[in-house]
Amino acid sequence: MSKRLVTSITLALGMWMTSQPVIAQQILLTNGVLLDPNNQSARKQHLLMDNDQIIGRFDVIPEDFSGKRVDISNKYVIPGLIDMHTHTFGNRAPNTNTENMGPSTTAQVVQHAGVTGLVDLFGNEQTLFEHRRLQQQGLIGGADIYTSLSCLTAPGGHCSQFGETRTIANEEEAAKHISELAQKQADVIKLVSTLGGRLPSLSPQLLKFSVAQAHKYRLKVIVHVHTLADVESAIAAKADAITHLPDDGVVSKSLAQRLSKHGVIVIPTLACDTDEYEFLFSDVLDSNLVKKLTAPRVIEGYRHQAAQMTSEQKHKAQQRTLKYYQSIKNLIAADVVLLTGTDAGNYGTLQGFSLHRELLKFAAAGLTPWQALASATSEPRRFLGKPPGLEVGAQSSVVILNHSPIENIINTQTIHAVLHKGKYIENKL
Ligand SMILES: [Zn+2]
Repeated sequence: MSKRLVTSITLALGMWMTSQPVIAQQILLTNGVLLDPNNQSARKQHLLMDNDQIIGRFDVIPEDFSGKRVDISNKYVIPGLIDMHTHTFGNRAPNTNTENMGPSTTAQVVQHAGVTGLVDLFGNEQTLFEHRRLQQQGLIGGADIYTSLSCLTAPGGHCSQFGETRTIANEEEAAKHISELAQKQADVIKLVSTLGGRLPSLSPQLLKFSVAQAHKYRLKVIVHVHTLADVESAIAAKADAITHLPDDGVVSKSLAQRLSKHGVIVIPTLACDTDEYEFLFSDVLDSNLVKKLTAPRVIEGYRHQAAQMTSEQKHKAQQRTLKYYQSIKNLIAADVVLLTGTDAGNYGTLQGFSLHRELLKFAAAGLTPWQALASATSEPRRFLGKPPGLEVGAQSSVVILNHSPIENIINTQTIHAVLHKGKYIENKL
């Protein structure tokens, strides 16, 4: 369907809604500028939401509206942010113990950073399954929990060093695990390729077989990559997305073009790979949002580490950071779709906050503010099979900002309030 057609249907529905009686308990956000990254439209309109859904957009407030009104004059509305790669056990930091949170607490914490959806790509399978069920039953709130439940890897491969996971040694095991995960309604399948690395990897043949198995159940596949050879293996296997950037070299222009041609999406997790270094030279950790969301000892752990780093370590980290930025620039030049994922739970990340860091890094590498916003909102929704933007029928998950992120993407951090599933949470920084 063309964007223009979608827009005209949205407008038609919006006009149609004006003639319908409007029931109480609905929330009408009035006088805000609605920024929809899906069609790059900025429009001052009133936005009507009924629990889970956006049900109207109006130029004039309906006369018979008797629900709750929230005036957001001079403010900006964007769809809720989605973290496409996280681990909800908590925050890990140098020089201190892990800040343990678990899926339901993390889901509630990140919501205050404007994150209304997260994809956990590996943790304790049973915990993830149960917390997601509790949320779907309406018993716990927070950002929507999506998850791969497990991490499918070679026996002794990456992921298995962090805890129990499902391993695949042959096609029979791949078919069995993917069928079980489909039965448990995994939202995506995560497969691991680490060719040429220290740990055993799924072979290109087994990766291809596993992707095809997942596609039989209409499950999308995200492949964890570590090397350029893994990227090739993921393209050949027809993976839907890869996550991370190769560590053994830059994604060349021609490789980026092939990813684009095959429609492979990239979740680079740039914050995770570069922030431990960039925390050193900025006032990032002084942000009020960081202080609100994160245990003080975690922040101190990073400060301490920064103070301890030798010049040799700094140089190495800087070279690595430059390499990652070059890969991202080539991906952007080839029009590869990027999605924001933080890989939070790992060093260099902070749950919720790192999503904003990822946006800044995408913009620094060349995405326009509109494109960066899309990478955190409409594109992840499209990947997850949801309506992408602020149209009628889309999920009622929005972030209200004090300043326009189109003027400067850093303004995604100026959160005034978050509205998710009919709950309006004012941000008190
Ligand atoms: Zn990860």
